[in-house]
Amino acid sequence: MKKHALIIDYKYCTGCHSCEVACRQEKAIASQEEWGVKLAEFGPERLAGAWYWNYVPVPSSLCDLCASRLEEGKAPACVHHCLAKCMEAVPLEELPRRMAELGDGVACFMP
Ligand code: SF4
Ligand code: SF4
Repeated sequence: MKKHALIIDYKYCTGCHSCEVACRQEKAIASQEEWGVKLAEFGPERLAGAWYWNYVPVPSSLCDLCASRLEEGKAPACVHHCLAKCMEAVPLEELPRRMAELGDGVACFMP
């Protein structure tokens, strides 16, 4: 199987926590102290008269990029359930091109 990376476009993350829940179910993580992906929240911050929050989901060392799902041709659980469609798994050879297309505010993770 090709190696993949997980791309998260933070610009569009709404902080819905669906990735956390989907990962917990997929990886059967029972402990409330452990996370496959954890959402960090920053804010509120007042800018130009409005309040803003920033959300940063970060995969943990428990993330294996849903290897078994990828082998079956499925998207990782967090990607499948992300309501904002701001997560994607891409083959490593496509990573530089995809990162360039998405621009600022994007991070990639490789287990
Ligand atoms: S790729 Fe799979 S294991 Fe990694 S954070 Fe997403 S759901 Fe969890
Ligand atoms: S599921 Fe998507 S939109 Fe929701 S918190 Fe996770 S990355 Fe952000």
